[in-house]
Amino acid sequence: MNFNFTNIGKYLLHVLLPRTCLHCLKDLPWESARALCPGCEGALEGLPELHCARCGLPLKYGGATCYDCHGRKSEAANLDLARSAFVFNAELRSLIHAFKYSQMESLAVPLSEALSAAFDRFPELKDYKFVLAVPLHPAKKKERGFNQSELLAQKLAAAKHLFLLENAASRALNTKPQVSLSKEERALNMRGAFRVTRPELIKGRNILLIDDVATTLSTLEELAGELKKNGAKGVAALTLAREP
Ligand SMILES: [Zn+2]
Ligand SMILES: [Zn+2]
Repeated sequence: MNFNFTNIGKYLLHVLLPRTCLHCLKDLPWESARALCPGCEGALEGLPELHCARCGLPLKYGGATCYDCHGRKSEAANLDLARSAFVFNAELRSLIHAFKYSQMESLAVPLSEALSAAFDRFPELKDYKFVLAVPLHPAKKKERGFNQSELLAQKLAAAKHLFLLENAASRALNTKPQVSLSKEERALNMRGAFRVTRPELIKGRNILLIDDVATTLSTLEELAGELKKNGAKGVAALTLAREP
């Protein structure tokens, strides 16, 4: 074994703070710098090749678009397109949960690398060079200590040489959690949630929204609508996870 000071440091850290896989809680090898064990990491599922050309929904039986996007007039959708790095599953849920609620801000590094890889995988995102994190309501940000989407957006922008739009929009309403709501209720719950605070940063630009999980896209659609009202030329979204 090649013992150097870094390894000794890692070993001591491991003895002091035994590290376990964030999902299955099995011990990680002491030299591991990963948050998941190899089995759980291998269980992460990338967005399948077969997905809706507009909203990125995985499509079991193929086709160009999902049922909802099929026949939709393009002017009826504020979001031009949405893509995700992964499909939402139990292993990814553990990672995102630790990132958001357990003060594991260090997870921003591997998670933003996954976002960067997804940005490269979907060339249709290339024209969207102005990155905007979905804003959190100030009360929620204070409670959590940080906005997870902001961290991801910063790192993606740095890695891919994109322009980061800071404080260009804010969350005016502290909306209730969307989890137990239907698709229609979610859209209603989000109505009026966002304000553009610096329209000069938005006008005429193609904007890429960053968020952790996309479900019905109601949050992203609402924000995209507000951006387009303020003169955005186009709005796309890239999220870590897509919940089918
Ligand atoms: Zn595991
Ligand atoms: Zn679709």
